[in-house]
Amino acid sequence: MIVVLKNEAKPEQIENLKTWLQSMNIGTHISVGVNHTIVGLVGDTSNVDMDLIGSLDIVEKVQRIQEPFKNANRKFHQSRLVVDINGTKIGGGEFQIIAGPCSVESREQICYVAESVKKSGAGFLRGGAFKPRTSPYAFQGLHGEGIELLLEAKKLTGLPIVSEIMNISHLPLFEKVDVVQVGARNMQNFDLLKELGKTDKVVLLKRGLANSIDELLMSAEYIMAGGNENVILCERGIRTFETRTRNTLDLSIIPVLKKLTHLPVVIDPSHALGYSYMVKSMALAATAAGADGLMIEVHNNPSKALCDGAQSLTPEAFDDVAKAVFQIRPFACKFE
Ligand code: PEP
Ligand code: MN
Repeated sequence: MIVVLKNEAKPEQIENLKTWLQSMNIGTHISVGVNHTIVGLVGDTSNVDMDLIGSLDIVEKVQRIQEPFKNANRKFHQSRLVVDINGTKIGGGEFQIIAGPCSVESREQICYVAESVKKSGAGFLRGGAFKPRTSPYAFQGLHGEGIELLLEAKKLTGLPIVSEIMNISHLPLFEKVDVVQVGARNMQNFDLLKELGKTDKVVLLKRGLANSIDELLMSAEYIMAGGNENVILCERGIRTFETRTRNTLDLSIIPVLKKLTHLPVVIDPSHALGYSYMVKSMALAATAAGADGLMIEVHNNPSKALCDGAQSLTPEAFDDVAKAVFQIRPFACKFE
């Protein structure tokens, strides 16, 4: 339920409304806009008397929200979320490319890739230190050492860094990691989501391999319900019957999410497609469709990569993709 307040509502009246709702176990999310203040009611609102609230002096209208996600709902937020990491912004019209290897392999590798992708215009460096591999015998990442190497590359280039967390007990290692990624396989690891909700970390939440858009939004809701509003959503392909691509890239998620939520939307063509030759065309399509950002895997030597080499671009190929992406970006679909 949302309560739209009249322009003349005074802060103390809003405070009184908040306290009254709290006494009924209803949390509030206040969004102050230029013309209106909107109070989002969070919790079980089934017994809330809409007419009673609507009759209050300061209330213009009361509206029920059908969707089960509240904090992530566009109706709760008058402006789109812009995540700002020391001046690097994503969302609400700000566009970024997140680039880097699937996994951090060595100092030379991550520093070289970081410098190259920065030159090509990437705004964030990615690199996995904890890798969720299908096989327990595959390379699992450098763990704490991988994070240290990412921090070195961050120091060298100034690029904010994105890395995947698999277990909340590792959180202390992520203290200086700018964006914590929750991978597709952990999208419904609700305990992990709840714990991240208690932090102030920016979370990049990837859509699960077989999860619906609503399930993705409910996972974002788990993080946001804990008080952490800094969530970026990422489409990385879903499982279908198709075998020519690693997954099926669901670009239709862009207009759907833009309608339903204020959260930034990133598209990861690398994991969706699985083969580097397809990345450019889908990166361009995602940009044109109005994504807030792209996540692209780049490796200094893809054929020798310890993880996801087939889908990784060389720094030269990435430069070509980035140039094309920035060229079409001004013509991309915009959402109000
Ligand atoms: C990754 O980003 O390297 C990764 C493992 O992604 P996903 O969770 O989308 O498979
Ligand atoms: Mn990968």
